[in-house]
Amino acid sequence: MLNIAGLDKHYFKGEGSRLWYHEDDGNEKEVIDFLGGYGSTLLGHNHPQLVAHAVAMLQGGMVHHGQLGMRKHAGELGRRLAEHMQATTGRPHMVLQANSGAEAVELALKLAEFGKRARIDRLQKRIDGDLYEAARAASEGLNMRAADLSTLNGLLGEAASTLPLSEQFALLAEFNHKAASARPVLLGLERAFHGKTTGALQLTNNSSYRQPFERLGAPVHFLAPGKLDAVQDVIASSRVYLHTVQENDGELILQRQEFSNVSAFFVEPIQGEGGVHPLDIGYLRGLRACADAHDFPLVLDEIQTGMGRTGSLLYAEQMGIRGDICLLGKSLGGALAKISAILVDQEWYEPEFGLLHSSTFAEDDYSSSLACRVLDVIEQEGLLEQCASKGRKLAEALNGLQKAYPEVIREVRGAGLLLGLEFMPREHGSTTLRDIFMEGRLGYVIAGYLLNKHGIRVAPTLSSPATIRLEPAALITDEECQKLMAALTHVCEILRRQNAYEMSNY
Ligand code: PMP
Repeated sequence: MLNIAGLDKHYFKGEGSRLWYHEDDGNEKEVIDFLGGYGSTLLGHNHPQLVAHAVAMLQGGMVHHGQLGMRKHAGELGRRLAEHMQATTGRPHMVLQANSGAEAVELALKLAEFGKRARIDRLQKRIDGDLYEAARAASEGLNMRAADLSTLNGLLGEAASTLPLSEQFALLAEFNHKAASARPVLLGLERAFHGKTTGALQLTNNSSYRQPFERLGAPVHFLAPGKLDAVQDVIASSRVYLHTVQENDGELILQRQEFSNVSAFFVEPIQGEGGVHPLDIGYLRGLRACADAHDFPLVLDEIQTGMGRTGSLLYAEQMGIRGDICLLGKSLGGALAKISAILVDQEWYEPEFGLLHSSTFAEDDYSSSLACRVLDVIEQEGLLEQCASKGRKLAEALNGLQKAYPEVIREVRGAGLLLGLEFMPREHGSTTLRDIFMEGRLGYVIAGYLLNKHGIRVAPTLSSPATIRLEPAALITDEECQKLMAALTHVCEILRRQNAYEMSNY
């Protein structure tokens, strides 16, 4: 497919927002990188300060595998990220590290389920204690209210009604255990992308990636973004009821206790791979309220939106939305290390969890120390402001293009330097182009044309292949953006003329 789209280049050198490959005749060809490692090169390729730091670490004899020892740099990174979260949310946080975005999703998934399970276990233990006490009281002659007895019969079946009360309470404990062992409910959104490992894949809505492995994981309810009623409905249907018996005024009283079986709700505040769709602020606020009311963490996957790309370290900050668990990856490693992290509100952290997920490679000094320098560079070079102002300017230019070619560009979306440009087919246009669109290859054909004809590297989003995503480095210049705009204008002209030949022959 790379070959057909003219994208089969090997990039042998990278510097800032430029990459080089060899043309067939052996000549070096320089290209401007607007693909940005699918969002991992916010600081550009081979940022000099990061390279110098990496070289110094490698030549300085740093220990790369110092497991079962104090991980000093992992500690520094955790402290810095936690301080940032404390400053922006006013709440203490814990930070855990992993090696990739998808692994960060796995971590969050496991932590959320571990926490839910621990809370259910605590509730059950309390109820088991109540039932033990109630059985003792019953054997000493205490009776149950008539109305409660018939409810109990309804739960345990008529056959149980002839048993002594103490034995019925033992059956009730079993009944509770069965109810509490219901599979957890996970919530996610249509168009979501959270990675391709087994657990993360269950939350990734693209069925061609997920379906072959669907039987492996916990089922996820995919909800339509923006529809809060649907969220309320699933939460209501996920309630689990346990029953306890307590003594009151010389009588035994049956009581129902309920919990929501939702373990977590995963959202990308801007759905990146789904086509760069920012979620509505009112909807996000609604999700925050649901999470608070029904005892599950709101997980904000900021693997693509985070690290400053949208103008704040986390996109949630400018939206004024608080996540209980926030995920970072991609540019956290400065394009020189593979590292990801989850930032957990202390309230959702379980102290035993640290040992339940670990990896040979995570929390290593090299990656953590580089990530600390990434935070330094973001601060020293004012990258948050650069992303915000350059993004605003680029979005303005793209919106201008959309107005000039409304029959070709459906919409421009995104924030900061995470922008999506959705193309559409013309109803009675070239059958070849419509065919390419229907097969989900329009974005790849456009990417091939831009690369080969204009020396500009872009890619479509993974689950919305007619949307070109723009994720350049924060150091992208005005001149480079102007070149992009000139090249995109050519694309629009060709699509307006419906000239499939010109689009694929360079
Ligand atoms: N979450 C989001 C929002 C992503 O965009 C991605 C990757 N595009 C991932 C998770 C998975 O990250 P990785 O590719 O590092 O596993």
